[in-house]
Amino acid sequence: MVKKIKETPCQRCGCNITYKTNKPNHCKICRPIFKKEYIKQWEKKNPDKLKKRQDRFKKNNPEKIKEYFKKYSKSEKGIRARKRRQHLPKYVEYAKYCSSLRRSRLRKIIHKFTYKDWLLMRKKTKGICPLCGKNVGLEKISLDHIYPISKADEGRIYTIDDVQPLCIRCNTKKNDKVIKNEIF
Ligand SMILES: [Zn+2]
Ligand SMILES: [Zn+2]
Repeated sequence: MVKKIKETPCQRCGCNITYKTNKPNHCKICRPIFKKEYIKQWEKKNPDKLKKRQDRFKKNNPEKIKEYFKKYSKSEKGIRARKRRQHLPKYVEYAKYCSSLRRSRLRKIIHKFTYKDWLLMRKKTKGICPLCGKNVGLEKISLDHIYPISKADEGRIYTIDDVQPLCIRCNTKKNDKVIKNEIF
């Protein structure tokens, strides 16, 4: 038995689609576009579910995420995004922080705290230097190693308790003396 060829309009562009058994809603060209639009709409309507899904995916596929970021950072889009980011004050500050740690890493000095830990400690000062009491603003509060890095032995470990926030002026004045502030 030969099935009769039927016709139906595409719900997206309205062109005529011919079919034999299952009635399609979209033509071949519109089908992938409709799918994408549908997913986007679903994501917009269910932001919580989307986040849960993404978190689950991240948890279950750490390697895939790593690979994805590797690819992205090497792609044209990724390079452009990085260049844009590098001008942000936040990024400049983080780069400075990293470069200071890199120097100490060469001497095998270990930092057992994260950048976030340091930011939190700095935030607590509210921009006021704990040593001289001047309000210099958060950006001018710098990280000081209570026991100076220049004097530290190879392999010395610094935890968050071994550093303190000081204004740039106090930090340079302190130089390589060991001064611990009472508050921190
Ligand atoms: Zn169509
Ligand atoms: Zn100060």
